[in-house]
Amino acid sequence: MRFLALAETLDRIESTTKRLEMVDLISKLLQVAEDDIRETVFLLQGKIAPDYEGIELGMAEKIAIRALSSLSGLREEAIESELVKKGDLGKIGEELLKSKKQASLFSEELTVRKVYESLVKIARTGGGGSQTRKLQLILDLLHSAEPLEVRYLLRIVTGKMRIGVADMTIVDSIAVAFGSKERSDDVERAYNIMPNLPELAYRAMAGGIDSLSTIRITPGIPIRSMLAERLPSLSEILDRMDGKFAIEYKYDGLRTQVHKMGTKVELFSRRLENITAQFPDIVKEIIENVKVDNAILDGEAVPYNMASNEMLPFQEISRRRGRKYDLNETIERIPVVLFLFDAMMLNGKSLMEIPYAERRLRLINSVKESSKIKVAKSRVVTDVESADKFFNEALEAGCEGIMAKSIEDKSVYKPGAREFLWIKYKREYQLEMEDTVDLVVVGAFGGQGKRSGGYGALLMAVYSEEEDMFKTICKLGSGFSDEQLESLPRMLKPYSISARDPRVESTMEADYWFSPSLVLEVKGAEITLSPTHTCCADVVRKGAGLAIRFPRFTGKWRSDKKAEDATNEGEILEMYHSQRKKILADNP
Ligand code: AMP
Repeated sequence: MRFLALAETLDRIESTTKRLEMVDLISKLLQVAEDDIRETVFLLQGKIAPDYEGIELGMAEKIAIRALSSLSGLREEAIESELVKKGDLGKIGEELLKSKKQASLFSEELTVRKVYESLVKIARTGGGGSQTRKLQLILDLLHSAEPLEVRYLLRIVTGKMRIGVADMTIVDSIAVAFGSKERSDDVERAYNIMPNLPELAYRAMAGGIDSLSTIRITPGIPIRSMLAERLPSLSEILDRMDGKFAIEYKYDGLRTQVHKMGTKVELFSRRLENITAQFPDIVKEIIENVKVDNAILDGEAVPYNMASNEMLPFQEISRRRGRKYDLNETIERIPVVLFLFDAMMLNGKSLMEIPYAERRLRLINSVKESSKIKVAKSRVVTDVESADKFFNEALEAGCEGIMAKSIEDKSVYKPGAREFLWIKYKREYQLEMEDTVDLVVVGAFGGQGKRSGGYGALLMAVYSEEEDMFKTICKLGSGFSDEQLESLPRMLKPYSISARDPRVESTMEADYWFSPSLVLEVKGAEITLSPTHTCCADVVRKGAGLAIRFPRFTGKWRSDKKAEDATNEGEILEMYHSQRKKILADNP
């Protein structure tokens, strides 16, 4: 098929906003694409491979400009300044070459296949002299291109397909082209487990829409992630779930779909990009600890402070993404823990059709938990009180809320679906604790890894004037520099005691205890209800105290303060209440 047919379709799509019209245009194109159907769909999407294969076109805008300059005779700087004004190299190229149209009379017609194959060559060209070879390849294409073709060639090659046809529009177009609009659901079902539209279009063309029903989930090809609905309260969730559901920690990290095929492991993000290269540490853990083969698992990768055994804010993980160079150093600095919460395939057998509780059981049996790979915390609840208690535990552990999961017979794994089989419930706000607090060190926990021999985290307390007691409020392991960490044992030595100080009230068993003395300035994300800490125990709610979520040492040792000058319990209670008022005002 001529590339011009594709360019004309794209041009017409660009001038309509009606989805039905787009579907009509694309389906007509698919019907005439024949052997070039895969390439046609790829180019419609502005891609040369499905996202999960991680192949980037990788041509810098600079080279495209150079090609255009050599073809049109206009200086590169002039094209660059046009680009700043107009922002679309495709249109600029089209205009420039309109005046040179005769040139194309002397060259061969461009086909979809030829364009696709050249783009693949461009992507594969690397190493020394690659820029020159890429330039030659794009020049060859532009030489044979009509002005309209130039517009789309330049956009595709620089990764700026402006219209980028949405996947669901192509799903509908495949249904219309080789069946009818009514068959869209069937195409979508196949798309959910094989999100490769060019391949689906080819199969639908060759064997009809019915042939798509034979597609099965396959290790190595990501399936679309199952998603969750939301409800505003735990009691509504309980009602909706008919009085019983599994409640899980909702980890705040990066959705990670794990595919294990022998000793080969691939990881995919929620957007189905291949993220294997960024997480060699997870790959290693999977190989060592997932005992089954041909497996597809679902989970969340969470940045973690291994020393203090705490989850870290999600933002930390973004520092890992896209990094190629100093990966080893980053793995050491920002370790991640993978929390697995579902199994879609084990030993080559699909588990998507069996109920959630059964899938979870099999998941538990297939994974040997380690410090870096765990199964998500989960419990079955039948009343709001226990759900609420679990929710607070989740927040205190650093999670952003909970996921409620149906345990009824119908609780299958539904790829790509956002339904009430899974319901999320989280805090809808993000706020910084406005003030810092000054907390007293009353205990410490032994460190691991880099911190072995030292302290991984400190147990921190506030002061209660009324009772003359120190009440725990958080474990503190973040915000310390290496030197500060090193100096801790020396600084704390004078206060070391063999058992808990009688003035310290704690439900936690620390590895080391100190008489309350050393005061540190701490900043946290918010104050939450806590089932473990003793600060304000039973004051806001029976059976709960208050804790600081995501505490960080600010770097200030408050040596000017005695333990009794630390922030007191009453102040924490006030902060909790004013924070709640602010939340209510922000979310009426
Ligand atoms: P949201 O991104 O707020 O729509 O919430 C859905 C996301 O929560 C999922 O895509 C997962 O990345 C994440 N998540 C964390 N913990 C769980 C869990 N236990 N079950 C399912 N999803 C989870």
